[in-house]
Amino acid sequence: MILFFGTKTGKKQTKTLNTVSCPYCAQKGTLMTVSQSNYVHLFWIPIFKLKTSKFAECSHCKRGFYEEEFTPGMEKGLNR
Ligand SMILES: [Zn+2]
Repeated sequence: MILFFGTKTGKKQTKTLNTVSCPYCAQKGTLMTVSQSNYVHLFWIPIFKLKTSKFAECSHCKRGFYEEEFTPGMEKGLNR
């Protein structure tokens, strides 16, 4: 029997943080976050979530932020 086992990338979710200002250029409402989850699948059925990668981008200064650089305000805006 062959086991089809591997990892799969989940749906991309984007969110605009309207109430959060950019830590770099201080513009409000220009930050957009993208989160994408990776799953371990067996026969293409997701078994468990591996990790969620998150990053943010500012549409004003075009700076990208990794999850480690998120400010508490960004985290709050993202989890709301
Ligand atoms: Zn900015």
